[in-house]
Amino acid sequence: MAETRSTCPYCGVGCGVIIESQHDRITGVRGDPEHPANFGRLCTKGSTLHLTATEAVTRQARLLQPMQRLQRGAPAQPVGWDDAIGLAADRLGDIIEQHGPDAVGFYLSGQLLTEDYHVFNKLARGLVGTNQIDSNSRLCMSSAVVGYKRTLGSDAPPTCYDDLAQTDCLFISGSNTAWAHPILFRRIEDARAGMKIIVVDPRRTETAEQADLHLQIQPGTDVLLCHGLLHIMLWEGWTRPDYIARHTSGFETLKDLVRQATPERVARGCGVSVEDLHTAARWFAQSNATLSLYCMGLNQSSSGSDKNAALINLHLATGQIGKPGAGPFSLTGQPNAMGGREVGAMATLLPGHRDPADAAHRAEIARLWGVDQLPAQAGKTATELFQAVADGQIKALWIACTNPAQSMPDQALVRRALERAEFVIVQEAFATAATCDYADLLLPAASWGEKEGTVTNSERRITRVRAAIAPAGQARPDWAIARDVARRLEARLRPGQPTLFGFETPEQAWLEHRESTRGRDLDITGLSYDLLDQIGPQQWPLPQGATQGQARLYSYGMFATPDGKARFAADAWRPVAEPRSPRYPFSLSTGRLRDQWHGMTRTGTLGRLFGHVPEPAVGLHPDDLLALGLQAGELVRVSSARGAIVLPVQPAAELGQQQAFIPMHWGSEALSGRDAAGQPLAGVNALTTPASCPLSKQPELKHCAVRIEKAALP
Ligand code: SF4
Repeated sequence: MAETRSTCPYCGVGCGVIIESQHDRITGVRGDPEHPANFGRLCTKGSTLHLTATEAVTRQARLLQPMQRLQRGAPAQPVGWDDAIGLAADRLGDIIEQHGPDAVGFYLSGQLLTEDYHVFNKLARGLVGTNQIDSNSRLCMSSAVVGYKRTLGSDAPPTCYDDLAQTDCLFISGSNTAWAHPILFRRIEDARAGMKIIVVDPRRTETAEQADLHLQIQPGTDVLLCHGLLHIMLWEGWTRPDYIARHTSGFETLKDLVRQATPERVARGCGVSVEDLHTAARWFAQSNATLSLYCMGLNQSSSGSDKNAALINLHLATGQIGKPGAGPFSLTGQPNAMGGREVGAMATLLPGHRDPADAAHRAEIARLWGVDQLPAQAGKTATELFQAVADGQIKALWIACTNPAQSMPDQALVRRALERAEFVIVQEAFATAATCDYADLLLPAASWGEKEGTVTNSERRITRVRAAIAPAGQARPDWAIARDVARRLEARLRPGQPTLFGFETPEQAWLEHRESTRGRDLDITGLSYDLLDQIGPQQWPLPQGATQGQARLYSYGMFATPDGKARFAADAWRPVAEPRSPRYPFSLSTGRLRDQWHGMTRTGTLGRLFGHVPEPAVGLHPDDLLALGLQAGELVRVSSARGAIVLPVQPAAELGQQQAFIPMHWGSEALSGRDAAGQPLAGVNALTTPASCPLSKQPELKHCAVRIEKAALP
């Protein structure tokens, strides 16, 4: 039996795993006791990883060879790799020639490895010449990026997992950590004695159950809450004027803004008591060290950046930052959402935390990549990208390692876009992903246990991902597929010139990425694959000359802004984009379950992971069930302005009245009926809104207004 150290491919905790294999088959998995994220522990999903890689699952669920669809709606036919690469390059080349580089779009994933991301980014920007490249991380953490940059000056979570054991007050906001980041929650439980836990969430989640104080706010009122807490801190003299004066700017404007946020007003607006507001403000400000954990409840919002900044304001006003156990700590949903940010494979980013709107930054990367220039025209972010495809501006779309025909909001539009596109490439490990149905060309990708590279977890820690077995069937690593198409396309776009894609190993791609970090906040020029092998996973920055990564940032009160001072953000509170109305009187939220992952392409292959929650349902407060005359298990029709789905209703006492919750995991296969446009239903995202934060462009997946009524039976 062989053992291979690697990383769990699910959430952003980034747990280390040891893969057991025999005769090119994965036979077991266990937690890596030496990995600093999990010290040997794994959650239900991680500990069943090997079962998702059995021969039976592979045979039934994996995409095992390239496939071409000659006509939309027709079954796809097998095609050889050489023909598939040629077809991709030819069709992309034709479209670039006829319509220009911006007619090609790339939609990637926070589950790709850093090396995959790098090759795709260079292909899109360096070769095709477009910034039309974005990622499903847009749905996950882009508000956190903007929140950090606006206030601290850099997209860098300043804290680390060890802070969980050193904090006195944990402020968990918009995160069901117990289910979405289970191993972190185990670490919180270990350190629980003596720690106050405040949970802010409209639902009484498993995490809220463990809290000393649960602020069950109305959906979308997080900014109002933070303003109210700051108002109380100011009134009570619990802020740190010395810290504010020395290390921050812009406090007076914020102070003026929160003057109106009196405890009574905020309590009324948020739906919590004045007394609870006081308690939360006191614990936050007066504890020796306060750490906040936050996730999709803040990020997936039409004011997501404001919510992030409003919470960071509290840390700055109270000096709860830059010391052990204190600071703002955004949790990433996906295993390598951080890596995508570092590589800059998103419309609003360039490699090494650079800005595509900055001509000097573009020139730096062009020089590094050996190209004349990078495109200046702004690229479209996720929802804009699909809108542009639906409008006919983008003609070709290359989708890798993500399933937008289930995961994007406003599915009617997304599916219309995929139908309208002239050429769709879907690069996937699992043939069961709904997006595969829209592909003209299907490229089989290697999956967990079959590929090499690196990922970065929520605490900036870079870990090796290693292959234990050969890829299933004819699958190939994502970076290699992108490289091969790029080389073929180069012959047409840069004839006679040396290749830009000389990478023969993922390490070579990583080394080019590493160079883009030189002198930047995330400098990893002192790191190498060898060093990761020798000393284990490391947090960035780790510049040349350093011997290990840095656990915490801003310890000396110097922030990443031009004047070294953190900036307060004074944003007025805005309500949700689609408030409840007489026509749509319920607030719908979506989210994760404990044992499932995203669209279930992997976790859905295991019966045992359905033991926790076996089928999709809409949860409603028991009083709402009664008022609507509904019984548990009865079928209801849930409608929004964009579509409708039919599913059973269940009582959910954890919700407030007029709130509804549907898990994000199930797609069309679990539901029956058609949407407003006559399309087959597409899971909960048939309902959700593409309304987005104006700064981060992250859609408001956590809230839309819906109507719920008894389903008319045929
Ligand atoms: Fe995997 Fe996240 Fe579970 Fe760790 S906590 S085993 S990374 S799913």
